[in-house]
Amino acid sequence: MPTLGIDLGGTFARAAVVDGKGAILASAKVALLDRKPPGVVETIAQAAEEAVKKAGVKVEGCGVGAAGQIHKDTGVISVAPNLGWRDVPLAALLTKRMGFEVKVVNDLSAAAWGELHAGAGRGAQDMLVVFVGSGVGSAIIADGRLVHGGGGVAGELGHIKVVPGGRLCGCGEHGCLEAYAGGHNLIAQTKELLASGASRVLEQLTQDDPDTITPVTLETAADAGDAKAKEIHDRASHFLAVAVANYVTVLNPSRLVLGGGVLTHCPGIKRQVLDGVQQWSSRVSREGLLIADAELGDDSGIIGAALLVK
Ligand SMILES: [Zn+2]
Repeated sequence: MPTLGIDLGGTFARAAVVDGKGAILASAKVALLDRKPPGVVETIAQAAEEAVKKAGVKVEGCGVGAAGQIHKDTGVISVAPNLGWRDVPLAALLTKRMGFEVKVVNDLSAAAWGELHAGAGRGAQDMLVVFVGSGVGSAIIADGRLVHGGGGVAGELGHIKVVPGGRLCGCGEHGCLEAYAGGHNLIAQTKELLASGASRVLEQLTQDDPDTITPVTLETAADAGDAKAKEIHDRASHFLAVAVANYVTVLNPSRLVLGGGVLTHCPGIKRQVLDGVQQWSSRVSREGLLIADAELGDDSGIIGAALLVK
């Protein structure tokens, strides 16, 4: 029987009815107007009901992928910064509202599970997924299972320290990889450079409007020979490359799946990451390593959440 997958973001809840092979039968998207737990539960239920109605089938369970620190057995969200939540028993609240079992997992875990079963990870038993989008996220599959860690936060590659005491990260700590290489922070560093008046290239590219800046703007300025932009771009790429190479050395995956907006739209950053893995991961760990692009795009989390219920 099909299951429901939910992608709980900061602004929308997306729901999809997914069959056992990971194909989406129908989907629905509802805006989160109220971010308090009862409002979010209602919004998720609404999106789910709409998707089920469109699909015209019965479903037997529901998986939710949400950003944050989540207890794998209880589905309690300990911390969800984008919703401002602490200790919310989302799985229990949704199970009560929807009348069947609801499982809640971290969004990256859901995405990795989706890629493993219906995307770029098919056939792999040991896999690392690294997504560089607005943040830097990753998940670990070992022996065909998701690695959660004791506190449910294993695989937080974005929060390894690359410059102890360095730039402030969204997690509240200083010097994390994400503070240098996550999309939000690439934009922030590019805005700082534009504001400093030290980059004529950026001034021309943006026509002095900081709101037009994306990570692609930074890469374009770096490629155009702007030394300061290149410094930010190459520092981020270098930190990412060393981190991913070491990650491969430590965990020895057979598959490395790369995705997220920054890696998709900034080929220069991606090239440095790929080169880094070839140069700096240990020789034995890269023998037999297959590197693939994520295949499911924005649907990886929703498909993975649905398949996790099985
Ligand atoms: Zn951090």
